[in-house]
Amino acid sequence: MELPKKYKPNESEPKLQKFWEENKIFAFNSEDTDREIYSIDTPPPTVSGKMHLGHAFSNSQQDFIARYKRMKGFNVLQPFGTDDNGLPTKLLIEKLKKIRAVDMNRDEFRKLCLDTINNELKPSYTNDWKRLGISCDFNVNYSTIDSHSRKISQKSFIDLYKKGREYRQEAPAMFCPKCRTAISQVECEDADIKSHFNDIIFKCEDQDLIIATTRPELLPACVAIFYHPNDEKYKKLKGKKAKVPLFDFEVPILEDIRADPEKGTGLVMCCTFGDQTDMEWQKAHKLPIKEAFGSDGKMTEIAGKYKGMKILDARKEIIKDMKESKLLLKQEDIVHSVNVHERCGTSVEYINSKQWFIKYLDLKEDLRKWGQEFKWHPSFMKNRYDNWVEGLAWDWCISRQIEFGIPFPVWYCKKCDEVILANEKDLPVDPEIDKCPVTECPECGCREFIPETDVINTWATSSLTPTLVKELFKGKPVYEKLVNSPMDLRPQAHDIITFWLFNTVVKSKLQFNIIPWKNAMISGWMLDPKGKKMSKSKGNVIELQMLVDKYGADALRYMAASCTLGEDLAFPEKDVVTGQKTVTKLWNASKFVIMNLGDKKPEQIAFNKLTNIDKWLMIKLNKIIKNTTIHFENYHYFKAKHEVDNFFWNTFCDYYLEIVKDRFFNPDNYSKEEIASANWTLYKTLFDIHKLFSPIMPFITEEIYQLYFKNFEDEKSIAFCNWPAEEKIEHENLESSGDLAVKMISAARKYKSENQMSLKEELAKVTISCTNKEKELIAVVEKDIKATAKITNILFKGGDFEIKF
Ligand SMILES: [Zn+2]
Ligand SMILES: [Zn+2]
Repeated sequence: MELPKKYKPNESEPKLQKFWEENKIFAFNSEDTDREIYSIDTPPPTVSGKMHLGHAFSNSQQDFIARYKRMKGFNVLQPFGTDDNGLPTKLLIEKLKKIRAVDMNRDEFRKLCLDTINNELKPSYTNDWKRLGISCDFNVNYSTIDSHSRKISQKSFIDLYKKGREYRQEAPAMFCPKCRTAISQVECEDADIKSHFNDIIFKCEDQDLIIATTRPELLPACVAIFYHPNDEKYKKLKGKKAKVPLFDFEVPILEDIRADPEKGTGLVMCCTFGDQTDMEWQKAHKLPIKEAFGSDGKMTEIAGKYKGMKILDARKEIIKDMKESKLLLKQEDIVHSVNVHERCGTSVEYINSKQWFIKYLDLKEDLRKWGQEFKWHPSFMKNRYDNWVEGLAWDWCISRQIEFGIPFPVWYCKKCDEVILANEKDLPVDPEIDKCPVTECPECGCREFIPETDVINTWATSSLTPTLVKELFKGKPVYEKLVNSPMDLRPQAHDIITFWLFNTVVKSKLQFNIIPWKNAMISGWMLDPKGKKMSKSKGNVIELQMLVDKYGADALRYMAASCTLGEDLAFPEKDVVTGQKTVTKLWNASKFVIMNLGDKKPEQIAFNKLTNIDKWLMIKLNKIIKNTTIHFENYHYFKAKHEVDNFFWNTFCDYYLEIVKDRFFNPDNYSKEEIASANWTLYKTLFDIHKLFSPIMPFITEEIYQLYFKNFEDEKSIAFCNWPAEEKIEHENLESSGDLAVKMISAARKYKSENQMSLKEELAKVTISCTNKEKELIAVVEKDIKATAKITNILFKGGDFEIKF
């Protein structure tokens, strides 16, 4: 039997992908209640044209585990969902269809999005996944905007409301004046911006009080002035009032320990709401709430002549006027850290508005505990979760004032504002279209209702992915099993631990009281070759398709398997090249072995009947199987890959194949048993190498399985072959014997190359100094050493180990 001369990934990979698809090799069996399930909470990407290299990197890592578990006999559930209810989808559809969401009703726009995604975008996008050999069951499918997801998301809202975990409150909420929507803490980030410290003058009777502020535009919302109770300078001001410059109204001067005597002049103004402390002061001292600007980001009525100006314009204008009125004492340039919206970089403001919140600030202790209830891979990533919990300052604001998304299943009584929830059987609903389920307000009897027009924040739906997947199997035999246990794995990148991972834990625990998964595997980022984040605007994006065309998918996956979990990595093209070489090496080594094994499956030989050097290889193989299995069990696919790679390149190709050659080239020098031993050792080892490599390089290993091993084995695909099992084998010192053989063969090669000799040239005599023990060890493999290194005579003498030619 012979393999074709060359392996061409570009021809074989698409052909194999088709074979897998047509034969439903990766289908999850929803009827099978016997086999253990291994379920993966696949990150749903936003369908936006092409898969980028970063996703290819992390998706491959997820797939290594899926393929390993399949070979371990699990009924693997690796679904494929997409996240299409956020802003990126809205913008994409508006651009593609040349329309604006505001001009359409929500339901029409949703339908258009779903149609476009499912019929135009998803098929080609899904192909990128398939082309990489990602073994998802693509028929287990959801989109976060489809009616299945809308129903589950709205049901989750209703459940949490009934559990008392949701409230709607008129309260200061973080708001992006540019995007004009409420946002949550997780959507903010710190940014250093240039600004000014302005020393401005408040009048108190005849006295000038100096207050330093970066935000003079908040003056119309000033409600008090504070100093620290221990600050002697200001004690005499207690109970007096100060006049706000330019706006000429009076505010009380009050004591509070939160005023820092070391900062500025020690006097500070409280405006509702400049920051978190302002909010605390307002509550503690029962101060009025004044709003200097509204949700449109423009100054309000109370700003007088500045009304209608944008925040920053008003700031400039107020400074100018204060300079003219000599109320500005001095201005100092500063750079300070402010909270900005991560999407647009605009400074976050606090605006009093009615928003929906999920209540969890009271649960910090539980949140911390929940983070310990599943395993983190790598474990240090848990710190990010803990730090996030530590720094939580707000309940989770889940309402957004944008047109596209999942509506709240809520109406309000026009008269008394009572919350009316949709009936669960009617879900999903759109309160703007559907009728309120009651005709009369249970509180006041009013018969008019106002639909909620806000939508549910996209993370509040994507944090339900385990439920979105499980509910797809309602009515199937596996349903009970799925619903009552956590999923096995959440693979995701580290940058969304505080978004997706944290929120999923919160939702799962609050709604179902189970942890969402048993394991979280956190991948790093793929950066450009210089270590910079890849982005379209920087023009440093490396095209996935180009790499697949150039090297093949296996080579890319090999690269992804070379990287440690959780670490960011500058794109290592050299690892892809090594991957390509490994594919070629695997083909050539297999070709050699297969050619020599002939058309029959070699007869299985018991371990104790093998020749000594064959036993040595089996011992090594057994170790690799053991270690690789442990590594995969611990999600250390990179360690597993390293072991197999090393075994294949060094032990198998560099040494064993060289050693075994003599039995094929000079069969007259060997007994029938010695040749049978070589045949079985080669078959078993080569097959196991393919199996061990197949989670990482599924294409080349499947190709060789289909061309060769399948003739003798029962499984339709290598994906169904049993993962090699560690064997109990008894051996004394054979491993050391083989290692000494390798040492001698390697020394002979070095000697010959240093002396410009051909490797085939015979060495008449080699002297080895060694102990008696070592002499015995060498003796049992002497024949193989002599045949491989072409040595006629080996002489032994006592002493420290040394080889002399
Ligand atoms: Zn924004
Ligand atoms: Zn009412």
